[in-house]
Amino acid sequence: MGAELDGIDEARNLSAAAATIPTHLFQFHAEANEGTVFSDESYSATRVVDGACIFHNRSGFAGGEGCALHLAADHFDESPIDWKPSVCWQLPIKVDWEMREDNVEIATVRRWTRADWGEHGTKMAWCCTEGTDAYVGNSSVLDSLSDELTEIVGTEVFIQLRNRLG
Ligand code: SF4
Repeated sequence: MGAELDGIDEARNLSAAAATIPTHLFQFHAEANEGTVFSDESYSATRVVDGACIFHNRSGFAGGEGCALHLAADHFDESPIDWKPSVCWQLPIKVDWEMREDNVEIATVRRWTRADWGEHGTKMAWCCTEGTDAYVGNSSVLDSLSDELTEIVGTEVFIQLRNRLG
């Protein structure tokens, strides 16, 4: 389906990032140069090429499999957060927003689950949070996703999480 983008600023950043990816890391760089990396002129999603996101290097590509934006971030020793659409780098973290009766908005940080995608959720090969390989690593999510969590909740809240859960 491509990745949904969070507004025109994110689209602008993505356009600049796409132009900066070294060509040996970007399987579909020719398609991007000849056309666009966006699905249409609303700039609300990435373009789909051959059934997947234009940035998705396919299995066997010499420059590396997976997201070309992520590979470029690694190549320049930068954070993928600064390169990828927010919907991509935030996965598998989800934020639920709820406005209480007293007008205080509550944000709950949790994992995405297959149920969050409705009937599509049963067919997604990449959904990882409910598989047997989830939560079995040597480091906690608090450590392995510390950059992402800090970006989402802010430094102050992240320190609180560390104090309470670390
Ligand atoms: S992670 Fe990269 S390849 Fe995957 S949808 Fe997002 S931008 Fe496209």
